[in-house]
Amino acid sequence: MYSANVDYYRAKTVDEAIKLLKKNPGAKLLAGGHSLIPAMKLRVAQPTALVDIGRIKGLSGIKSTTKLLKIGALTTHNTVANSPEVQEKCAILAEAAGLIADQQVRNRGTIGGSLAQSDPAADYPTLMTVLDAKITASGPKGERQIDAADFFTDLFTTALTDSEIITNIAVPIYGKGTGGAYLKMKHPASGFAVVGVAAIVSVSDGKCTDVRLAIGGVTPNPVRAMEAEALLEGQAPDDANIASAAAKVAASLGEAMGDYYASADYRKNMAEVMSRRALKLAAQRAMG
Ligand code: FAD
Repeated sequence: MYSANVDYYRAKTVDEAIKLLKKNPGAKLLAGGHSLIPAMKLRVAQPTALVDIGRIKGLSGIKSTTKLLKIGALTTHNTVANSPEVQEKCAILAEAAGLIADQQVRNRGTIGGSLAQSDPAADYPTLMTVLDAKITASGPKGERQIDAADFFTDLFTTALTDSEIITNIAVPIYGKGTGGAYLKMKHPASGFAVVGVAAIVSVSDGKCTDVRLAIGGVTPNPVRAMEAEALLEGQAPDDANIASAAAKVAASLGEAMGDYYASADYRKNMAEVMSRRALKLAAQRAMG
């Protein structure tokens, strides 16, 4: 399939891109193009114009402070996966980025594009949810920060307005005594997550002091499994306690999605199984 004809603009700055979006209703930003172009070829997306932001300087790269990683929106999945800084300070994020699709997609796809796409089967939304990341967007009214918990609002839908651009993502880093694990059941054709589970566990004196668990792929947007988190907090991360906590995951998911490949019940069941494994691995990593 070929996409419909479309006007093409290349923006040199964020301000120029915002102006182009305002001037061309129905236009879409183009970053890595690895979600948008396939959708255009299938005619699922038919933007009136493309505003290419791929060469805007300063929108890619990773900087860190003592508490945060600041990741530019145009940073590719491979850059995140292979960054020594990310591997050291927020290993779960590098682990997840390395599981996205294949080398080709990871070389072109960007973190900003993935978040804006809000695909239920994507990996980064689950990671941003478990990490309590903040997404910075620039638009005609200036800049604002959106909590990951408020960013993904529905299937392929976010809190961004039509003329807003994600510029960077602030990800809290974690230190010694905290471990993370991202486990993914990959769709065999695309590599997308049928189910993706992200767990972050802090352990002190043999007890879990902080537990965070997010489930992707099962519902339109990633969900924090708060009941499971609360049940494990204050407990030893042993098999029995982890199993009891994971058994609460389905309750947080509500109505699950299903398709010809994996039914809703199957996804929910896998979410529990993978939560058990991810919590165990995260706790083991926390304890060194
Ligand atoms: P684009 O395709 O350029 O844009 C996607 C959407 O985001 C568009 O609507 C665009 O207008 C908007 N957008 C882009 N940048 C911004 C910005 N800075 N601010 C606001 N809006 C913006 N993803 C996974 O997570 N896991 C997988 O396993 C996986 N497997 C894949 C397998 C294949 C074969 C393919 C083709 C893709 C796969 N993907 C997967 C998706 C891939 O990660 C995409 O690269 C990513 O979702 C979109 O990033 P992009 O830079 O390519 O965005």
